[in-house]
Amino acid sequence: MLDWKGRGWEEVRAVVATHGHLDHTLNIREIVERSGAKVYGHGGDNEHFVGRYRYRGWSRICGCLEWMGRLLFGFQGVELDLEIENEEILDLWGGLRVVHLPGHTRGHCGFYSERVGILFAGDLFANGRLGAMEPWFFLNTCAQYFEGSFEKVLELDPRGMLGNHCDGADAGEQKRRFVAKFGKKKGE
Ligand SMILES: [Zn+2]
Ligand SMILES: [Zn+2]
Repeated sequence: MLDWKGRGWEEVRAVVATHGHLDHTLNIREIVERSGAKVYGHGGDNEHFVGRYRYRGWSRICGCLEWMGRLLFGFQGVELDLEIENEEILDLWGGLRVVHLPGHTRGHCGFYSERVGILFAGDLFANGRLGAMEPWFFLNTCAQYFEGSFEKVLELDPRGMLGNHCDGADAGEQKRRFVAKFGKKKGE
């Protein structure tokens, strides 16, 4: 797929994971094998990355879906090469700041590019024509942290946001929907 733009796998230096759910980790092993890239992620999701997280309560549904996915696709898990920390600046893409945004998972992170003013927000929200929303309850393992993560993003106030599960709207529109949904709970 990379050859299509005249670029080779050897140019891929890192895989930066927002969190360890299967829909975001399934292809990491193949990418690493082809490119030799290092895998970056938050240590709070270590058990997810290796495919051994023990889901509890409603999130067992998520665990069940992952179990089926692993079986279907033969996922074997990956080890992180580098554990990232909140506020750390990664020497990638002109400098990407790690923004720890727990809630969906414990180690869930966004990545902020000051250069273009965009926050890659991972699965902090889902975003469609009807607006932004929290991920479905059975997909979240520590939902009590969502509120703090939403506030963190509102304070950061990026120019645009790009989520993993969205309808293709541009970054400005995704940010607008996020603020419309999560931006005026307090003081109103
Ligand atoms: Zn997820
Ligand atoms: Zn996802």
